[in-house]
Amino acid sequence: MELHWAKGCQIYITPVKRDEVCVALISRDAQLRLDDALPLFPELCKRLAKVEPANLERGAVSATRTLRHVHSGRMALVGDASGSVDAITGEGMCLAFKQALALADAMANDDLELYEEAHRRIRMRPAMMAQMLLTMDRNFWLQTRVLAALAKSPKIYARMLATHVGAGSKKDIATNIVELGWSILTA
Ligand SMILES: Cc1cc2nc3c(=O)[nH]c(=O)nc-3n(C[C@H](O)[C@H](O)[C@H](O)COP(=O)(O)OP(=O)(O)OC[C@H]3O[C@@H](n4cnc5c(N)ncnc54)[C@H](O)[C@@H]3O)c2cc1C
Repeated sequence: MELHWAKGCQIYITPVKRDEVCVALISRDAQLRLDDALPLFPELCKRLAKVEPANLERGAVSATRTLRHVHSGRMALVGDASGSVDAITGEGMCLAFKQALALADAMANDDLELYEEAHRRIRMRPAMMAQMLLTMDRNFWLQTRVLAALAKSPKIYARMLATHVGAGSKKDIATNIVELGWSILTA
């Protein structure tokens, strides 16, 4: 996939079929449409110039929501209904699948409190990443510095990515933050 970031919006491109890609725009501005945003991405604009749209542009709301409880009695919520992390993380479906597995374990143990605990644990890392990414989205100076630092240090980028998908340890997270901070200051 490709991810392009400009001031105030992101465009990401994902393959859909052999000859079709999905172009998605994320922005805080609910009125912003793809045609208005594309000029902010000249390189992408050039590549998409001769492409025929396969369907109409559609929209959805993205939000970070936390619920106090995700079960009551013998009822439990999974997926976005149980709270969500911002779409900027790209983690929504992964969370839903992990929650479904945790719920199945809790049901097998006949104790939905176990699901409540697992749900909190599963959500922690994506919620932290969402906060970091949204902070970068709000602060263009920081966004530019972080991206420049990551471009300069592919190892830090690879470790940040590992942390994002849950493959890094707590020690890795601390090391990443220190090294990234230093890289930003010296970029
Ligand atoms: C712009 C955007 C980009 C995203 N990008 C990514 C990404 O790259 N990767 C990723 O993993 N996630 C991404 N997500 C998040 C992902 O789409 C959601 O986390 C995921 O779809 C949640 O699945 P769900 O089944 O819990 O809920 P939903 O997909 O919302 O499904 C709920 C379904 O229930 C139906 N429904 C609602 N009310 C009723 C009712 N009363 N009766 C019957 N049916 C009802 C709805 O119509 C809907 O079909 C993105 C989200 C947005 C908005």
